[in-house]
Amino acid sequence: MQTIAILGSTGSIGTQALQLVALHPERFRVTAITAHRNKELLFRQVREFRPEMAGLTEPIPLEEIPEDLRFCHWVMGKEALRVAASEIAADMVLVSVVGIAGLQSVMDALHAGRQVLLANKEALVTGGHLVMDAARRIGKPMLPVDSEHSAIFQCLQGAAPNKPVKLLLTASGGPFRTWDRERIATATRAQALNHPNWSMGAKITIDSASMFNKALEIMEARWLFDMPPEKIQVVVHPQSIIHSAVEFEDGAVIAQLGVPDMRVPIQYAMAYPERLSTGSKPLDLFALGQMTFEPGDPVRFPSLRLAAECLNAGGAACTILNGANEAAVAAFLNDEIPFGGITRLVEGTLQKLGNMPADTLEDIFAADAEARRVAAELLPSVI
Ligand code: NDP
Ligand code: MG
Repeated sequence: MQTIAILGSTGSIGTQALQLVALHPERFRVTAITAHRNKELLFRQVREFRPEMAGLTEPIPLEEIPEDLRFCHWVMGKEALRVAASEIAADMVLVSVVGIAGLQSVMDALHAGRQVLLANKEALVTGGHLVMDAARRIGKPMLPVDSEHSAIFQCLQGAAPNKPVKLLLTASGGPFRTWDRERIATATRAQALNHPNWSMGAKITIDSASMFNKALEIMEARWLFDMPPEKIQVVVHPQSIIHSAVEFEDGAVIAQLGVPDMRVPIQYAMAYPERLSTGSKPLDLFALGQMTFEPGDPVRFPSLRLAAECLNAGGAACTILNGANEAAVAAFLNDEIPFGGITRLVEGTLQKLGNMPADTLEDIFAADAEARRVAAELLPSVI
């Protein structure tokens, strides 16, 4: 029996993690869960999983908590994340909140010596060097949940002491894979939210359409696997069957395949190094017929170019890209800017702000705040 705390239990990843707990009650017990503002779903989850602690980062008065759920210790505000990540006893902490909010939680969990299962990519994008240092210090591997990084992690099992010479990071290409630049620039909210293969939260779905998701994943891979950006190749693979691959010195390429189903990588992180049933459909290669591959296009998707530029720039460049992108996606989802405005806002913010230091968590949060301030200032210019 292993105990788990789930930060962001009401999200796409969080709810699938809870499905796996329900599928394997003899194996996992939930000790803490948090949501942002979806209290109704959180209440239902507390009722079903009976954690010791629950919390909402957007506080509600304690009187609103139903009588039958008062057995549980309730914490409100940002404190909920800290208590769930580091104070309530748990063998592992799944960080599946969205956005830079995940960075502090990952650091809190690591400082408490907890095994981290990482869905939140923004923690590595913004604070990769600090997170990986802290993980090394407690001597526990960071267990990736993001499907591409889980795939690479799986491909590397048993590979040591060999280091890969290249990572092949696959991408579905999103809903605008075949669209020209002008058409992409005027895409609607509904078109951008219509991902061909994966059902995910709104932020990451928009990021998949702009390929900022892949940009963030290049940064995530850089830290998780200690690989320079020039050795991380984006491979557009519209079927999303190969979840990523690694190439070794001898020319051997090892890939991980499966139907696109996040329960598989979530389960791998939860049960590592074991594998448990997930309810996922088996891969039928005959029904699939063929797999195709194309290079990522940095002209139609400038996010791919910006990833390498920001990684090479170092400092807080990736944090600034991430903060400006979070602001831009929120503005797009709010119908304030067109789809093409997302990339223009991110590039404009990077240019106007320049670089900043990222030596400490405080530096990173300051750079993030500056990026959002500058992005808000530039917003009218990308309408
Ligand atoms: P969702 O938007 O579906 O869920 C986000 C979760 O975090 C919810 O529980 C939400 O609560 C909570 N939350 C939202 N804002 C905050 C905040 N400011 N502070 C604390 N908690 C907050 O996101 P996903 O599950 O899609 O993604 C979660 C993370 O995992 C992201 O970093 C994403 O990039 C990554 N990821 C997701 C994949 C997927 O398939 N979905 C695949 C790979 C990575 P509430 O419901 O109350 O709003
Ligand atoms: Mg991914």
